[in-house]
Amino acid sequence: MRPPGRSFRPALAGAALLAGALSAPAADRTVLAIGAHAGDAEITTGAILARHKRLGDRVVLLHLTLGEGGNPRVSPAAYGEQKKKEALAAAQALGAEALFGPWKDGELRDTEEAARFVADLIRQVAPTHVITHWKSSLHPDHEAAHRIVNAAVLLASLEGFVSAHPRHRGLRGVYYADNWEDAEGFAPYLYVDVTEDLAAWKAAVTSYEFVRGGISTFPYLEYYESLARVRGAVAGKRSAVALEVEPFAKKRVLDALP
Ligand SMILES: [Zn+2]
Repeated sequence: MRPPGRSFRPALAGAALLAGALSAPAADRTVLAIGAHAGDAEITTGAILARHKRLGDRVVLLHLTLGEGGNPRVSPAAYGEQKKKEALAAAQALGAEALFGPWKDGELRDTEEAARFVADLIRQVAPTHVITHWKSSLHPDHEAAHRIVNAAVLLASLEGFVSAHPRHRGLRGVYYADNWEDAEGFAPYLYVDVTEDLAAWKAAVTSYEFVRGGISTFPYLEYYESLARVRGAVAGKRSAVALEVEPFAKKRVLDALP
């Protein structure tokens, strides 16, 4: 499941390798993007994932459900099969690993069991950065995903939570994606320049039929291409993807004014 090109961890490497890792700190990141439905993470933040892959980082996608209920003309079973193939193709295009949760579309619930499942995956993947849904959404699965992931992040760090893997304390931050369905109260905070990564993003997300058009009336590709331009304009870049964080994560402690 690990991609080529990152077969050692600095903590396990000798001094020479550690020095090499320090001279290229970007490759030190593992970005884990967790979406309620296959396609959520790629369409919103795939350009950031493509960028980090290009920087040499490890990129992992976790789809809690396949989002198999989203095609009114195809049975959930058949569309689920299609979505899984599309998710694997999108991950391959991004150079990402793809993981899948066991839940059904529309049935994701914020339960202890779900938090434990995701916590164990977080321990396995050992991300430095987690990206998931913002807390408010018109889709209950998205709101459940937000709560599950935040509970899982805490559990994964606790010595007292016993799972098959040791606790993970290397997480530097949890970030929330700019998703048209999760817009209420979302205020862009971090802007990532994706000017050179939009082509890779587009190649990946068009693995999904719902993005290419014909299933949903929502113009996914146009919306997110335009959003990248809008966020880019505000950020002084050609294209950008914005992320939100928890209010407490906006606190900055300085020795003097910057
Ligand atoms: Zn979704």
